[in-house]
Order: sequence, then structure tokens, then C-alpha cells
Amino acid sequence: DTGFTCIDGKKEAKSIRDEIKIQVSRMAASKNIVPGLAVILVGDKEDSASYVRNKKKACESVGIKSVDVCLPEDSSEEDVLKYVLSFNKDPSIHGILVQLPLPSHLNEANILNKIIKEKDVDGFHPENMGLLVMRGREPYFVPCTPKGCIELLHRYNVEIKGKRAVVIGRSNIVGLPVAHLLLNEDATVTIIHSKTKNPEEITREADIIIAAAGQPNMVRGSWIKPGAVVIDVGINHIEDPNAPRGHRLVGDVCYEEACKVASAITPVPGGVGPMTIAMLLSNTLSSAKKFITSNDL
Ligand code: NDP
Repeated sequence: DTGFTCIDGKKEAKSIRDEIKIQVSRMAASKNIVPGLAVILVGDKEDSASYVRNKKKACESVGIKSVDVCLPEDSSEEDVLKYVLSFNKDPSIHGILVQLPLPSHLNEANILNKIIKEKDVDGFHPENMGLLVMRGREPYFVPCTPKGCIELLHRYNVEIKGKRAVVIGRSNIVGLPVAHLLLNEDATVTIIHSKTKNPEEITREADIIIAAAGQPNMVRGSWIKPGAVVIDVGINHIEDPNAPRGHRLVGDVCYEEACKVASAITPVPGGVGPMTIAMLLSNTLSSAKKFITSNDL
């Protein structure tokens, strides 16, 4: 089979949201509980504000309650922690998300460490990360973007077991957790980062490439083994005088070249992005389910 598949993250995310919506309404009917997500945004970074708006809209579309707190850029650590601690205690909130990156004067680790692990729907608490990495252990939550990447592979019946996977990037948010998820699915995993020499020689061996470097069009057609599956996590704004707003979004993979070599690839936009939000909703719903079970409701 030499056919090429464009992996439709938008369509898969929609079908996940539809399923979540059904489950949320069943939960409301049978247990009188509505899953609740709290989102804390510090500062007025346009990207972050738009991600928060999208998350809020997605919550509304499935019937999850969303509460968002927007704090000024110059907020102190205590200001932010005050909200984290109060959401930790609030029984109507099942997930807490602090939108990253935080302004540079705030210590990200100190703040993320304070979210209780039962509500850590982003999966960034060190205990959740530790459980993700350990053999035979299960985290409370898997980070949304990495989970979305794996979900797309599953939904498109891409075999992971025994395959060579190459992840580009080693951030706590994407690269590192996605590499461990692939390892847990029995892939043989290599991680490329900014100090890696000749990355193209490594990617050319890969059956699965997950690109999360934040470098526009870094992965060229010649970097890809014929028939490989490529998941492009990158979201990069590049200038384009012909685009309506003077710029447009591209991934880390040069799509026009990659689609001639790969067997399947995610587009940007419309690939991993919508899946990330669907996974956030899914983590919030599953947190509410665990809340019901653990409180015998
Ligand atoms: P970070 O900047 O935190 O991490 C980037 C990683 O890529 C680092 O590990 C870095 O290496 C590596 N890297 C950077 N340049 C190169 C290079 N030239 N060659 C090899 N490796 C390189 O970014 P994030 O992980 O947060 O995000 C990555 C991309 O994914 C961004 O474009 C971001 O916008 C996007 N993103 C998309 C999401 C979605 O929902 N679709 C969600 C989250 C992020 P080193 O460690 O050595 O510095």
C-alpha cells in the first residue's frame, strides 16, 4: 500500500468530544455531578489567552463547567498559589490547569508542585511524571499533548510495538512524556534535542517521528524514511505577507515535502492541536469519575 493518509485530528477530536458530552450528561443525570475545570492564566500573552479561550469553549461544548481566573502579569507567587490552594479544596473542581509559560519572575515548579495530584489534569506534577516514567506504575493523568499524539496513532491503527520511534524535543510538556508513552507501548525510542548531531540520520531510521522542537519546517522530506508515520506537534507562527493577518501557522515538519514520503502525517493546524484539548476534557471527565468512586457517590 503506497497510499498517503492525512491524519485528521480535528475529526478525531470531534468524535472524542461527542463521546465525552454523552458521558457528562449521563453523569449529571445519575449522580448530579458536573465535571469542573479551573484554568489559571497569569499575564496577557496573546497565545496563552487564546489557548485558554479555546479550552473554555471546548468545556462549554461538552457540558464541563469551566472557571477561569486571569491574574495580572505582575502577580506574586502567593497570588497564584492562593487560587491553586482554594481550587484544591473546592469539591466542584475536578481539574486544575495553570497555563504555561508563566511570567519569568514566577517559579513554575513551585506552583505546579502545589496542585494536588488528583486534580492535576495536565499531568505535570512531578509525582505524575514519576509514575509515568516508572515501569508497572500508572500516573493519575497523562499530559494532554503527548496523550493526544498516541491516541491519534491508535485511532489510525499505527503499530507502535517493536517499531523505531524518534521524538524531536525533550520538554516536560511534550517531548519527554511522549517518548515515555512510546516506550510504554514497546517502541524503541530515540530522543533528539538541540545538541544532537546530524538529526536527519537518526530520523531516517524511524518508523514513527514525533516532532516537538518548535522549529518551523525543520523536518524535511529527506529526513523521513519512506512509509514512516509523522506526528507534527509544532505550532509556529511565520510571517506570510499573503496571509490575512500577515502570518500563518506551520508545524515543525515541512508538510509539502513530507506528504510525498511519509505514509501518514498530521497537518498543522488540524492535527495534534485539537487532540490536546480533547484529552484535557477527557482527563477532566475521568477525574470527576474518580471523585465519584473515591467518595462512594
Ligand atoms: P520547548 O521550547 O520547551 O522545547 C523544545 C525542545 O526541542 C527542546 O527539548 C529543545 O532541545 C528541542 N529543540 C529545539 N531546537 C531544536 C533543534 N534545532 N534540533 C533539535 N532539537 C531542538 O517547546 P515545547 O516542547 O513546549 O513545544 C514544542 C513545540 O510544540 C512548539 O512549537 C509548541 O508551540 C508546540 N506545542 C504544541 C501543542 C499542541 O497542542 N499542538 C502543545 C504544546 C506545545 P533542548 O532541550 O536541547 O533545548
